Amino acid sequence: MAEPIADICLVGTGAVGGILAKELGSAGLKVVAFERGAALTLEDYAVRDAIRFITRSALAEWARHDPVTFRNLPSERALPRIHTINAVGGQMLHWTGQAARFMPGDFKVFTREIASGVAERAKADLTGYEIFDWPIDYDDLEPYYEKFEWEFGVSGGGGNPFAGARKRGYPLPPLRRSAKMELFDAACKKLGYHTYVSGAGVLSQPYRPAAPYDSRIEERPACAYCGHCNEYGCHINAKAATLYTSIPVALKTGNVDLRTNTRVFRLNSDDSGRITGVSYFTPDKQIREQRGRVVIVCGYAFENVRLLLLSERSGKAGIANSSGTVGKGIFGHGDVRINGLFDDYIVNSFIGPNSAAVRIDDFNGNNFDHNNLGFIRGGGIGSSGDGTPVQRYDVAPPGMRRWGKDYKKYLARYYTRTLEINVTPETLAHRDNVVDIDPEHKDEWGISLPRVTFSFHQNERRMHAYLAKVGENIMRATGANKMWSRLPGAATRWSGGTRMGSDPKTSVVNGYCQSHDIPNLFVVGASVFPTLTGYPATATISALSYRTAEYITRQREWFR
Ligand SMILES: Cc1cc2nc3c(=O)[nH]c(=O)nc-3n(C[C@H](O)[C@H](O)[C@H](O)COP(=O)(O)OP(=O)(O)OC[C@H]3O[C@@H](n4cnc5c(N)ncnc54)[C@H](O)[C@@H]3O)c2cc1C
Ligand code: SF4
Repeated sequence: MAEPIADICLVGTGAVGGILAKELGSAGLKVVAFERGAALTLEDYAVRDAIRFITRSALAEWARHDPVTFRNLPSERALPRIHTINAVGGQMLHWTGQAARFMPGDFKVFTREIASGVAERAKADLTGYEIFDWPIDYDDLEPYYEKFEWEFGVSGGGGNPFAGARKRGYPLPPLRRSAKMELFDAACKKLGYHTYVSGAGVLSQPYRPAAPYDSRIEERPACAYCGHCNEYGCHINAKAATLYTSIPVALKTGNVDLRTNTRVFRLNSDDSGRITGVSYFTPDKQIREQRGRVVIVCGYAFENVRLLLLSERSGKAGIANSSGTVGKGIFGHGDVRINGLFDDYIVNSFIGPNSAAVRIDDFNGNNFDHNNLGFIRGGGIGSSGDGTPVQRYDVAPPGMRRWGKDYKKYLARYYTRTLEINVTPETLAHRDNVVDIDPEHKDEWGISLPRVTFSFHQNERRMHAYLAKVGENIMRATGANKMWSRLPGAATRWSGGTRMGSDPKTSVVNGYCQSHDIPNLFVVGASVFPTLTGYPATATISALSYRTAEYITRQREWFR
């Protein structure tokens, strides 16, 4: 018997899928939500066990079966790597919680920095880069940033002179200040920089949203400052995550059919060019089809690309790709870290959530004079340094071996006396950085893996070196007795691959994350970013999710 047609087929229930499920189910639409991982319970993710969660990456269990292949250059053979957490709630279950809005200028890099002549005056070599403006701007997203902050409970201080205007402040006061925040704050002020306490998706007080936000989301307690945010689920649910905020509300609507351990591998379309539904594997690896009036792909960056490339239209590989840009324009942050050791000061960097941070945007975006610097853009800089010893075992001065008597002595003395400054430099889209389909490796279902080809190019390399110097100056001003910096090896926080834009010739989706080619297909998440910015993505993809959900619910004629 054929399954009844759903209004919405949702592929993935992470940060994005968790918001879309609630918004669309609450609007009365019948949603079938596919999630290739399991639905975890507090007992699964609450254990404070660094070996289990950090060294052995227990939360990524499902991902072991479903890796991504990586290489730096097209001439290399790509090798599989475990990539992300696959479970209901997605990576947001073990995110750090930095909840940052982008700056207004971040949405218009082409206009403000290339067309305006900034790049030329900087003497930046942008050969090979493909830089586009977003088709929307900060003001389009502002009400949805607010909704995210007030529904998920973001704690923050404000006071960043470079931030866009906000109609409402944060729902919660900032988290308590730690020694690392004080050190960083004082050093930056000494140098004349503009410090602020950044937004954190961690509750500084018990919180439940009140009207006009969604008061069906249950109250959660304040953070206990245990310091186990990053790579863990929070044991008291004080950290924002869709698993225990929006997803329970979505399920209570009675309109969301959540199918765990089911893996979508193809998007189906008909001859008229409309999406008709998805094909998926059941938990016991049977192939099934689910028809849907609208399909929303939100499986995170590389999986979004993979699904579009592996689907077919009129017998031809790839859908929603008339621009030929699916898989192009990927990027990730190349974090620069500056570490300092103090002989006479206990920092105890592991205390409290790492999202409780003092930051500066003086060297982010286009906030500083780039004349003759040889690059455009920049990055956010902040206090950092969370982590249990297992997470920080590699924080040791250059030349020191990470084992043996000397290392043990060093760790015993300096683990509590270490400060880290973290820089999040922007990476720009380059024509050589792409995701495609790996011709060699398949997953255990026999489906080809996504293959990532990525390296940092000249603009990033110059920026990394410059920002490392800025970070070192700040570290010097803290009074650290010894310091060193680490330039990025691998990239992190992946984005791009299904670019958003107003021109269907150079982009995959429009400003509502709707395919230019197939109006009932949506791709939502950081894969739609045309540019990366110097901030992490989650607040912005959440804002995009609310905006897309509102747009879809307005199309009532689609669901008659
Ligand atoms: C350790 C860590 C720390 C982070 N810290 C921060 C931070 O401080 N600030 C910040 O802004 N961001 C942070 N992030 C990033 C943040 O978690 C992501 O931006 C966010 O979770 C992305 O949401 P998403 O819904 O697009 O993807 P995900 O959260 O990855 O969810 C995608 C979901 O789709 C499912 N799925 C994928 N493909 C399929 C398929 N074919 N069929 C069925 N299901 C599928 C996956 O299993 C997954 O559950 C962090 C991430 C990590 C890993
Ligand atoms: S520091 Fe706070 S938010 Fe982070 S895991 Fe501990 S209690 Fe949860």
